[in-house]
Amino acid sequence: MSLNPVRPWRNIYRRESRRIMVGNVPVGGDAPITVQTMTNTLTTDVAATVAQVQAAADAGADIVRISVPDEASSKALKEIVAESPVPIVADIHFHYRRGIEAAEAGAACLRINPGNIGSPERVREVIGAARDHGCSIRIGVNAGSLEKYLLEKYGEPCPDAMVESGLEHIRILQDNDFHEFKISVKASDVFMAAAAYQQLAEATDAPIHLGITEAGGFVSGTIKSAIGLGNLLWMGIGDTIRVSLSADPVEEVKVGYEILKSLGLRHRGVNIISCPSCARQGFDVIKTVEVLEQRLEHIKTPMSLSIIGCVVNGPGEALMTDVGFTGGGAGSGMVYLAGKQSHKMGNEAMIDHIVEQVEKKAAELDAADVAAQAAE
Ligand code: SF4
Repeated sequence: MSLNPVRPWRNIYRRESRRIMVGNVPVGGDAPITVQTMTNTLTTDVAATVAQVQAAADAGADIVRISVPDEASSKALKEIVAESPVPIVADIHFHYRRGIEAAEAGAACLRINPGNIGSPERVREVIGAARDHGCSIRIGVNAGSLEKYLLEKYGEPCPDAMVESGLEHIRILQDNDFHEFKISVKASDVFMAAAAYQQLAEATDAPIHLGITEAGGFVSGTIKSAIGLGNLLWMGIGDTIRVSLSADPVEEVKVGYEILKSLGLRHRGVNIISCPSCARQGFDVIKTVEVLEQRLEHIKTPMSLSIIGCVVNGPGEALMTDVGFTGGGAGSGMVYLAGKQSHKMGNEAMIDHIVEQVEKKAAELDAADVAAQAAE
């Protein structure tokens, strides 16, 4: 059945997955696809880490992951969790004690591979701590750190080996009657990651955490992630995402949201539709958009704004946006509200005016939302 009978080419059928909780944030089932990032401060520097978590949350991060490499970090984690506005995932490698400490410190989720933490007794202890403290677990398979026996079996990292590794970790959790888990099978190679995720999606109903690992710097990493994550999300695969960039975590969050926004899977803030500009532009489109992006960062209400250089495409784009401005020559342009021509505005005052109009529209949309919720 079509979700959108008018525009069926926009339909994305999400894979059915179980829903788990990461703190108070649902992941999987029909919960919104969440956006995650990871801090890159020293975890022991509580003030710097809290500031980074806060900045990521302000940018829209639903969940933030923090490395817990030593006991001092476990102690710091407790203070960070107490001040964090979003659930915290503790990133643990191999060390079972760190897993237990992180659960005790209030982590909402442990990123830990149960097959890599030693004896069955230690595994039971970590799972017990997670259970006692309402902590979920993310199994995080990475093509770069596959178990030796799998590399020997398959000869090199490959989707089959990654999925086999993931299913083995799942088996250990299930044998311990633990089901609050999600799973990722990341690789820096887009083809390998996409193939592994497709196989994984067939093999389990656990929520899936998507990521292209070590994707690179801002531009190349964004493109790789948009291709890899974009394809999978388009196929309906993925319940939570992290874009890995060698860049500020806030950038990761912004890119994650843009990927979801592009596919109509999640909406947040102002979606600016703007032309690349050319000799016909009635005002400096590039500079205007740059300034508007900054000045509208505080808007969280999902809405659209078209900023188009001239009448070639301006009126058409404005038809489909909440607020629009189209350059018209002679130092002024036309403002569109709710898709309709509204009034002329001089280029020099246009930015302040657009910000005002967007803020007004956001307040209207918020009020309508509150009224609709009250009526339910
Ligand atoms: S909308 Fe007008 S200004 Fe913008 S790129 Fe097209 S022709 Fe050029």
